[in-house]
Amino acid sequence: MFKKILIANRGEIALRIIWACRELGIQTVAIYSTADSDSLHVKFADEDICIGPPRNADSYLNIGAVIAAAEITDADAIHPGYGFLAESAHFAEVCEACRIRFIGPAPNMIRLMGDKAKARETMLAAGVPIIPGSRGTVGDEQEALPLATRIGYPVIVKAAAGGGGRGMRVVNSPEELTSAMSAARTEAKAAFGVPDVYIEKYLKTPRHIEFQILGDSYGNIVTLGERECSIQRRHQKIVEESPSTALTPKLRRRMAEVALKVARTVGYQNAGTVEFLLDEEGRFFFIEMNTRIQVEHPVTEMVTGIDLIKEQIKIAAGESLAFRQEDIQTTGHSIECRVNAEDPETFAPSPGKITTFHLPGGPGVRVDTAAHPECTISPYYDSMIAKLITRGNNRMEAISRMRRSLEVMVVEGIRTNIPLHRRIMVDADFIRGNLHTGFLDRLLERKEEAAVAS
Ligand code: ADP
Repeated sequence: MFKKILIANRGEIALRIIWACRELGIQTVAIYSTADSDSLHVKFADEDICIGPPRNADSYLNIGAVIAAAEITDADAIHPGYGFLAESAHFAEVCEACRIRFIGPAPNMIRLMGDKAKARETMLAAGVPIIPGSRGTVGDEQEALPLATRIGYPVIVKAAAGGGGRGMRVVNSPEELTSAMSAARTEAKAAFGVPDVYIEKYLKTPRHIEFQILGDSYGNIVTLGERECSIQRRHQKIVEESPSTALTPKLRRRMAEVALKVARTVGYQNAGTVEFLLDEEGRFFFIEMNTRIQVEHPVTEMVTGIDLIKEQIKIAAGESLAFRQEDIQTTGHSIECRVNAEDPETFAPSPGKITTFHLPGGPGVRVDTAAHPECTISPYYDSMIAKLITRGNNRMEAISRMRRSLEVMVVEGIRTNIPLHRRIMVDADFIRGNLHTGFLDRLLERKEEAAVAS
């Protein structure tokens, strides 16, 4: 087992990894930018090193500085968390070349799945259902126009290197296609450095259902069941739950089989997530595989009792999985609300100093956060300040626990989306489990309609 792990991240996920390391008796090293010197991950790690100024490119994405910090502290592994360098195949290669274990899959796996157009082709060849669309990337509108006509509008133009819901454009007619393609290419180039795009049929009211995978270095691959992540804003998840209300035991088994097939096709190692869209007729399609720990991993932990970060570390250290598929039992229901520092009406980021901070607790409540009273939410980084997670013996109990938690959670000094979460938790469609990826837009439209009528 590793003696010392450097955590190449910040915020709640850096703390989450520190807790796992402590439980495993592993020393930790925090890295931080000058904007994060008072952060909790710096306080709670055994060692800490400042790696540069606030801008991502100068600190958390600066591979030279991260590797230097690992060398100086003699860390034998790096956990990348999510975001930042977590899906950089190049970074994973540099770690290997420096004989530092990268806690995640091999670089070639990250590279394959990081190119979503290539991943689609690979899965098509393996007999995995994918959404009708282009084979690989599309170069220009000459190629795109006949293709879009063939698959039928609406279509969606997506960045091959995409992530976080960026670089996507829905196109309703041929007239919109040219400008959508150039907008998606520009956005993709700016966000990911690669302008390549591909096209898929746009499904109108799908659900986003994803399966958690764990694979060790001995070819053992299991799934820990699904998460429903249909409550999204601009293709970014805000509320997730497990299990999904949409899956019958039969459909769950079929989807799990396909998720395992995706992972087996590439010989997947470490933690990963196979994402599907599920349509109203019960047809499901692979959209991508994420080769890292996901923000929403806690809901899976809450229903399976398996600590995913500890599993990631054990797998990277060469241990075999301690359980087989038949040993994995899910019980109860878990929900996660992402609490963001943003205006609940306009969704504009709301950085600043937190003056009052009170967290809920009690049975079935977990909060993953690095925020605390008097801390400053930096404008440089992600606006998510906490993940509020509840578990109940059934879905309604998980919802009641979320409602009472949201009622007593106090964050003052900045604005947050807690009021939005309170609305979601009492919404009739949400309670019925009547969800799709357009759910939140409809909820927000209803509020506007009510405002106009009054
Ligand atoms: P990212 O990697 O940026 O997260 P994904 O491919 O995982 O992108 O898609 C994110 C979200 O975008 C999905 O959960 C869904 O809401 C929407 N989306 C993506 N592809 C389609 C599609 N073909 N039809 C309808 N919605 C889609």
